[in-house]
Amino acid sequence: MKKTTVGIIGCGVAGMTAAIYLKRAGISCLLIEGQVPGGQIIDNDDIENYPGFSKISGSDLALAILKQLKELEVEILYDQVKEIKNGKTKQILCQKEIIEADKIIIATGRHPRKLEVKGEEQLRRKGISYCAICDGSLYKEKQILVVGGGNSALEAALYLSRLAKKVILLHRRENYRAESFLVERLKEKNNVICQTGEVEEFKGKDHLESVILKDKTVLSCDAAFIYIGQLPTTDIFQNLPILGSDGYIKVDSHFQTKEKGIYAIGDCIKKESYQIVIAMGEAATCALSIVRGEQNE
Ligand code: NAP
Repeated sequence: MKKTTVGIIGCGVAGMTAAIYLKRAGISCLLIEGQVPGGQIIDNDDIENYPGFSKISGSDLALAILKQLKELEVEILYDQVKEIKNGKTKQILCQKEIIEADKIIIATGRHPRKLEVKGEEQLRRKGISYCAICDGSLYKEKQILVVGGGNSALEAALYLSRLAKKVILLHRRENYRAESFLVERLKEKNNVICQTGEVEEFKGKDHLESVILKDKTVLSCDAAFIYIGQLPTTDIFQNLPILGSDGYIKVDSHFQTKEKGIYAIGDCIKKESYQIVIAMGEAATCALSIVRGEQNE
């Protein structure tokens, strides 16, 4: 069994920022990551609203923060968290390890929402993807469909337009939820077509070949990238009374949940705006509140 003062679940921008603040204040912490460190920003091509950089790729920003963690000697444990136990002591039960912590910060973020239509699961990784940065290069000079109308869908369509022969942006209504500057940028692209409609079914034998819309229009495409929003990654916390009915974690102004000593920050909590700098701000507020608490104990 490993012991730490603060166990941080999730190595995205929120978790990493909390670790920086805690470690610099002399509080021991352990970051736990089940997949790749960096979190969702790794899927961002160009970030243009991170102060200090007019443009930086998500992976470059993640690498810079990871370098800072290394310099501060923050330990990262690569393991899959299965459950948190909040009894006499707080325990984070992982696949391989059990971690005992005085306090826990949950920073598990969100994951892509699925369309839940016929063919989506069968053709996943066979033409259907939820990450343009990861899989876009497989479809150079091909015909690509992007589904969605938020910032993520439009950013993905812009990124893919640099690789693909043609990009069809399919949105279920005329107006976009995305910021207007992204809509304007997309309109300037000669190889992007904006279409209104809803997917009924993905078709293909061993690989995606076409998409059937609810009005029975058939669109042939080599790949489909689905960007229809995100869901909080909080399933593993269902044993604790900290989740709202929508699956997001409920916190107070110090980012503490109803369970004393268990905090949540970043995209796994319900809020108005999901932005990198906001997640970082929450991490700093939460970590500083823990630091003040430790100093007063
Ligand atoms: P989002 O803003 O929630 O947009 C989801 C889009 O998917 C909406 O256009 C929605 O349509 C559509 N949609 C939802 N369910 C659907 C369904 N079943 N079938 C078809 N379409 C469906 O999600 P997001 O783009 O992933 O962005 C998430 C958050 O991250 C937002 O707060 C966003 O501002 C932020 N973000 C910011 C940046 C940035 O600052 N550069 C970049 C990426 C994301 P309706 O509009 O009709 O509901």
